[in-house]
Amino acid sequence: MTHPLVNPPSSIMAGYREREAALLASYAAHSADSAGRERQEPDHPYRAPFQRDRDRILHSAAFRRLSYKTQVFTGELGDYHRTRLTHTLEVASVARTMSRAMRLNEDLTEALALLHDVGHPPFGHAGEETLNLRLAQHGGFDHNRQALRIVEQLEKPYPGVCGLNLSREVLQGQSFRARKKTAQSSPGKAPLLEVQVVDAADSVGYDTHDADDALQLGLLSLEDLAEVPLWRETVGRVHKRWADLAGDELRRAAIHELIDFQVSNLLEETTQRLEEQSIQDVAAVRRAGILVRPSSELAEQKAELEAFLFQRVYRHPDVLSVRRRVQEWLDTMFAGYVRKPGLLPSGFRRLAENQGPHRAVGDYLAGMTDRFAQQQFRECRFQG
Ligand code: MG
Repeated sequence: MTHPLVNPPSSIMAGYREREAALLASYAAHSADSAGRERQEPDHPYRAPFQRDRDRILHSAAFRRLSYKTQVFTGELGDYHRTRLTHTLEVASVARTMSRAMRLNEDLTEALALLHDVGHPPFGHAGEETLNLRLAQHGGFDHNRQALRIVEQLEKPYPGVCGLNLSREVLQGQSFRARKKTAQSSPGKAPLLEVQVVDAADSVGYDTHDADDALQLGLLSLEDLAEVPLWRETVGRVHKRWADLAGDELRRAAIHELIDFQVSNLLEETTQRLEEQSIQDVAAVRRAGILVRPSSELAEQKAELEAFLFQRVYRHPDVLSVRRRVQEWLDTMFAGYVRKPGLLPSGFRRLAENQGPHRAVGDYLAGMTDRFAQQQFRECRFQG
């Protein structure tokens, strides 16, 4: 297919290769070195390949549905807290900041950040756990792998076309996330720095905003959080600047400080590692292992904060009671659709014929927003 802009003016065609060569570090992922796409495509006249990847993800149906998907807290608890979409945008913002400061490829970073949670089912990790149990005999369910399945098979941007045909660097970056839980990357195959930055930004995001959301929802108090050294030190720095700050103002200032502190630490530590190990190109990045990580002291403090959040927030009775209820909905729907695949929309019925009812039902349920899942549970007759 020829692009309508067949003879673009030369100013537009200044070229992403030249721009990247002038702006990016030698160890960044340059589009000119991309391994390309599974289905070859002609160059776009004014968008670089990773920019196109980002746009394809942003314009996908799966991405839009993130706005009604749970991050940690479902809608019934309030409407201040993060959804899966706002979490994703915060991760993308932190990742872009880091990427620009390190002169990495921002387009690739943003594409990876926008993609990273697209595979999440409704109701966050509660939903993921139920789908994984229900699919245990059929390959299991993991949101990172599901993101790949969505962009490689389930999204249908054009008639007769399955998948978004993303660049291999984006797919490999997401595959790294999918493998991370089970195995460390093999020697010489460490992920690109852009992938590492998104991973680090995700961790900055959820540690910080889960604390913020839990405070605002009243599941935690500022006094409770003062048990955690990282929080105490953060508040100490805020109080040096504004001695009398308390309540919501303190919460907000501490959250900003906590993000800034972590990002600054990551940038300092990573830059130092790049220098010490004389990293000059992507091949050296691949050999070096994970370079984008906080200082060991901050890593320990983050682990303490995460352990605290796990016990006090993710296991909070209000959160657990919602969790039980939504898992029941998904369980009932899973069994119901597997028993009666005729209730599935036509695309998923075809998928059930080709790939078996369990995987098709898993895909259908995983694609639902919290709201739609609740509505389907109420409207569909699964009994009998
Ligand atoms: Mg995330």
